[in-house]
Amino acid sequence: MQKGKIGVTTENIFPIIKKFLYSDHEIFLREIISNAVDATQKLKTLQSSGDFKGEAGDLSIRVSLNKKKRTITVSDSGVGMTRDELDRYLNQIAFSSANDFLEKYKEQSNAIIGHFGLGFYSSFMVSEKVEVITRSWQEGSESFKWACDGSPEFTIEEATREGRGTDVVMHIDKESKEFLDEARIESLLNKYCKFLPVEIIFGKEREWIDGKYVDTEKERVINNTTPAWTKKPSDLKEEDYNNFYHELYPGVENPLFNIHLNVDYPFRLTGILYFPKIRSNFEIQKNKIQLYCNQVFVTDSVEGVVPEFLTLLHGVIDSPDIPLNVSRSYLQSDSNVKKISSHITRKVADRLNQIFKKERNEFEKKWDDLKLFIQYGMITEEKFFDKASGFALLKSCDDSYHTIDEYKKKIGEKQTDKDKKIVVIYATDKLAQHSYIEKARARGYDVLIMDGQLDNHFLNHLESKIEDVRFVRVDSDIPERLVPAEEDRQSSLDRDRQVVVRHLMEAHLDDRARFSVSFEPMDESASPVVITQPEFLRRMRDMSQMGGGPSLYGELPESYNLVVNTNHPVITKLSDEAESNLAERVEPLRNAIKKTGEKVEFLSAEHGNKKAEEISQAEKDDLEAMRKELSEKESELAESVREWGTGNNIAKQVIDLALLENNMLRGEELAEFIRRSTGLLPGSKQA
Ligand code: ADP
Repeated sequence: MQKGKIGVTTENIFPIIKKFLYSDHEIFLREIISNAVDATQKLKTLQSSGDFKGEAGDLSIRVSLNKKKRTITVSDSGVGMTRDELDRYLNQIAFSSANDFLEKYKEQSNAIIGHFGLGFYSSFMVSEKVEVITRSWQEGSESFKWACDGSPEFTIEEATREGRGTDVVMHIDKESKEFLDEARIESLLNKYCKFLPVEIIFGKEREWIDGKYVDTEKERVINNTTPAWTKKPSDLKEEDYNNFYHELYPGVENPLFNIHLNVDYPFRLTGILYFPKIRSNFEIQKNKIQLYCNQVFVTDSVEGVVPEFLTLLHGVIDSPDIPLNVSRSYLQSDSNVKKISSHITRKVADRLNQIFKKERNEFEKKWDDLKLFIQYGMITEEKFFDKASGFALLKSCDDSYHTIDEYKKKIGEKQTDKDKKIVVIYATDKLAQHSYIEKARARGYDVLIMDGQLDNHFLNHLESKIEDVRFVRVDSDIPERLVPAEEDRQSSLDRDRQVVVRHLMEAHLDDRARFSVSFEPMDESASPVVITQPEFLRRMRDMSQMGGGPSLYGELPESYNLVVNTNHPVITKLSDEAESNLAERVEPLRNAIKKTGEKVEFLSAEHGNKKAEEISQAEKDDLEAMRKELSEKESELAESVREWGTGNNIAKQVIDLALLENNMLRGEELAEFIRRSTGLLPGSKQA
C-alpha cells in the first residue's frame, strides 16, 4: 500500500472549506457526477477516434444510497484511472484547487462568494472519508482504491472492480446526514442533473400497486439526455418547444414565443428563451432562466449574463464559456460575459422583429402580454431601444395598433401644434376618462390607451428620444387646447365680468387651493365648465409614486384647473344675472379698484425709474398704502360676489357637472347634486 501526503501546506484545511462553503454544500453531488459524465464522454471520444476498441457497454452513471453504511456512491463506466493517474489527478491536480483556495483565503476571506468549482474536492464538504475505486480503460489495467479521511494523508492500494470505470464512495459525516435521505438526493439530482448528456440512474421506477408506490425491477433514469436546446431548430416543432417549456416549469401556461439561441463564435452558447404569459408578479419571480454549463445546471440567478430586462424571460442558457467559479462582480466586468449579454439582446430583438414582420396579426394579439418586456428593455437598454422602436406598438382607444412611425404619420396632420410638435394624446383609464376621450375624438384626434405598468415611464422616455413628439393626457387640458394652434378666439366675457364669475365659482369650491379657475373661449357646444389636470405635475407625481422621478412631486397635493367656457350660454346668462343683481355693490368697487390700480401702477413705474436711495420714506409709505387699499377693495368685491354666489345653484350645478364628468363627485356632494338636479325637473316639489 502506498501512503502519502496531499500537497497542501496547512495541516488540515477541511474545516475551513466546510465553514466557508457551508451554503453550497449540496453542489458536491453535481461536481462528482460531472466528473463521471466527463469520464464517460472521454470514453466515447476514444471510441470514435478508434483508440478504444472494446465494448463500451452500458454507460449509465448510477447513484446509490446506503443508509446503513452512511454512504453515497457514484459509479461510472468511463475512462477510469491508472494508478499513476490516480496519484496525479487526485493528489496533485484535484487538491491544487484547495491550494488556490487557501491562497485566496489568506488575502481576503470575504472574496469567497458564489460558486466554487471545487470538483472532486468538494466531496469532502460532506464526507468524513472518500474512497475512489477505479480501473482504467486501457488494456491490462488493474483496479486500485484511493482513500482519504479528510486529513492530508491518503492511501492507494490494489482493489477489485469489475470492468472499467470509477466508483466514488462518500462516507457522509454526521453534520451532513441530511444527504442520506432519498428524497433529498432525488431533488438534488432533479435540480442539477436533469439534463445531463449521460443517463443518470437513481433507484427504481415505481408503480402504484394496492394503494402505495412499489419499486419495480426497472432502473429509474432521472434525466433527459437530449434536452431541446441541444437539438437543431429545424428538428423541432412548436409543440416540442412547448413540451420542453413544461419540463422546465411544470404547471405553467404555454409561452408566447420562443427564441432558440445557437452561437459558435466568439463564444459558444446555446439555449432557448421563452416569453412567458405573465399572470402575476409572483410568477415572474418564481420561474427564472436557468444557466447551464455543458448541460450541468449552475444557477438560476443569471443577473449579469443576460441584461436585466431579459431576466423576466424564462428558459435555458448553456455556455461552457461563462466563468462559473467566480464572484458575481467579476462576472459583470468580464468581457466575454458582456458580449454574451449584448448578443442575447440582439437575438431577442431580431426574433421579435421577425415575428412582427411575418406575423403582424399574431404579434398584435400578443402585444398586451409582450409590452412589459419590450418597454422595460427600451427604457433600460439603449441598443434594444434602437432595434425595438421599429416594432414597439402603440394602441389606440379603438384597439388599433401602430408602430411609432406609423402613428406619427397617422396623426401628424391633425395633431401638430404651433411649435411643430406632434401631440400624442393618451388616456390612462378608458372608463374614467371616457368623456374626455369622446370630446378629443369628436375633434378628430386619436387617443392612445396607455394603462400599462410602465407606460408612464415609457412615454417620458419616448419624449426624450423622439424630438418632435410630445405626450399629453386627454384630460390635461380642454380639447381645443390639447393641440394648441395659433388661432385666437373671441371671448364673450370681458375681464371685469370674468373677475365676477371667478369669485362666483370660488364660492362653491371648498378646497380652493386644489383648483385654479381660468377662462377659455371654447365652443358653445362644449361644457360650461371643464376640469383638467395639468400634464407635467400630474406625470411627475405619478412617476414619483411609482418609485421613479424626484420624490418631492409625490408629496404635492393633486391640483386641477377649473376652466370656464366663456362662450357657453349658461355662463353668459350666469354672468348677466350676477351683473344685474350685484351692480349696485360691484360697480362702485370696480371704479375704485380701477382708479387705485392706476395709481399703484403709476407710482410703481415712477419708483422704478429712480434709484433706491432717491425714494423718500413718505413716497414708499404712499405706495404701500395704495397697494393695501387696492387689495382691500378687491377682497371686498370678492366677498360681495361670493356672498351672493353661495345661494346661486346654477354655478354650483355647472361645477358639479364637471366634477361628475371627472369621477370626482362622491358621497354627500353627489347625494346633494342628485337632490338638486331632481329639483330642477318639471313637477318636482323640492325646488
Ligand atoms: P476537474 O474535473 O476540474 O479537472 P476535479 O478535481 O474534479 O477537477 O478532478 C481532477 C481529475 O481527476 C479530473 O480532471 C479527472 O482526470 C480525474 N477524475 C475525477 N473523477 C473521475 C472519474 N469519475 N473518472 C475518471 N477520472 C476522474
